[in-house]
Amino acid sequence: MRGTHTGPPRVHEHASGAPAPAPAFRAFPAVDPRPSDRAVSAAMAGCPHVATLKPVQPHTLQGCEDCLKMGGRWVHLRLCLTCGHVGCCDSSPNRHATKHFHATQHPIVQSMERGEDWGWCYIDEVDFEGDELPPRA
Ligand SMILES: [Zn+2]
Ligand SMILES: [Zn+2]
Ligand SMILES: [Zn+2]
Repeated sequence: MRGTHTGPPRVHEHASGAPAPAPAFRAFPAVDPRPSDRAVSAAMAGCPHVATLKPVQPHTLQGCEDCLKMGGRWVHLRLCLTCGHVGCCDSSPNRHATKHFHATQHPIVQSMERGEDWGWCYIDEVDFEGDELPPRA
């Protein structure tokens, strides 16, 4: 249907060569009406669990508690922020952190790697900055 050109759009501008008039008033300054609370933003992004977390004490600082029991090896450590379970990541042979989630439905883990403090909700598949998570007990 290419033959149905409807003509020029109706515009109210005057001469196209005229300089654009200065705006008569300024737009409102771009101020966020709420304080930028990142925990709120994460919760609003779809994870209701992070707001329910309380500080937990890791069960151990030695390594993956399940690997320690069975003599396994781990790559990275994840702390369950619901109960303090220390499990190994999905790069590890036994993936105890993910197994712990499937066994308990505890939704959020935090990295225990040095220099890392991000978190992850298994249920909502959202990640968190460290300052969105409760401090360590
Ligand atoms: Zn969640
Ligand atoms: Zn493990
Ligand atoms: Zn747990």
